[in-house]
Amino acid sequence: MQNRCYMHCSHHIPVLLKAVIEGLNVKSDGIYVDCTIGAGGHSVVLLEKLDDRGLLIGIDKDMNAIKIAGERLNKISNRYKLFQESYAKLADILSTLHIKTVDGILFDLGVSSMQLDIPERGFAFRYDAPLDMRMNQNSSVQTAADLINSLSEDELAKCFSEYGEERYARRIARAIVEARQLKRITTTSELVNIIEKVAGRQSKIHPATRVFQALRIKVNSELAELNQALDQAFPILKHGGRLVVISYHSIEDRTVKRKFLEHIGRNVSLQEGGSKWQGTMPRGRLINKKPILPDENEIKSNPRSRSAKMRIFERIK
Ligand code: SAH
Repeated sequence: MQNRCYMHCSHHIPVLLKAVIEGLNVKSDGIYVDCTIGAGGHSVVLLEKLDDRGLLIGIDKDMNAIKIAGERLNKISNRYKLFQESYAKLADILSTLHIKTVDGILFDLGVSSMQLDIPERGFAFRYDAPLDMRMNQNSSVQTAADLINSLSEDELAKCFSEYGEERYARRIARAIVEARQLKRITTTSELVNIIEKVAGRQSKIHPATRVFQALRIKVNSELAELNQALDQAFPILKHGGRLVVISYHSIEDRTVKRKFLEHIGRNVSLQEGGSKWQGTMPRGRLINKKPILPDENEIKSNPRSRSAKMRIFERIK
């Protein structure tokens, strides 16, 4: 499995690399946190920009990612520290390092090409593999197979519709419950067959896309952990520090946008005249009104970037 990973890791191309580095406004003596280090695609460039006073902290749930990123970073300098953890532990990780504030934080959400390309991880519907989908291979959370075989029809339908915005959520949930009465559903292909029978091929997008996305989000508690991590991220930014988030689907982007807007706040008019800022502290501003998207060339050379949306927040107070 490891050889396979080495073979594929060169295929993970960092998304919006130049925009990320510019967005973080990297200073050579700064402290930066890459909350989703993956293959280290963004972090190797970040680390190259730091001098002996700077520090890069890398986090990932996935032990393969930590290993591969570590090997790449080690060739550049020793000004980095890696943690195989959830980014929901961001504040704890910084406190073990006795660090109170940082200059920049990056989230490049979702799965890496390395994870998608290892069939055994069960993230990809194009391979036949056990339905796993845990980002942390050592964790005891329920796998996708556990969820598919134990959730009620209602819970499955809710999961597919909330986390996958799947039109046929109810029909697919019903078909799963019927199928599993005959035999436990354990592989990606079994699930894909059930979905294809019910939802069929409607468009260029594979009918299993949304259900797989929904399951992945649920298995890894992605939205809850993202919310927790963002709440921890704002207060640890230095004044002028930047938070850069790349999301890959509308549910993720909505979560990010909502959190950013809370901290940007708004001015409300007072009865006695004048106005007052209303919002969550610490306060910040958006660097771009609209999210930054990859251009056509990037999408052509890196299909993973297709749905990327990058938002940048700067702490001001
Ligand atoms: N920026 C990286 C790619 C990141 S892909 C690069 O260019 O190489 C997204 C990574 O986020 C994956 O490796 C995944 O394991 C990790 N991840 C997803 N959810 C996480 C979480 N809650 N905590 C920590 N890492 C997470």
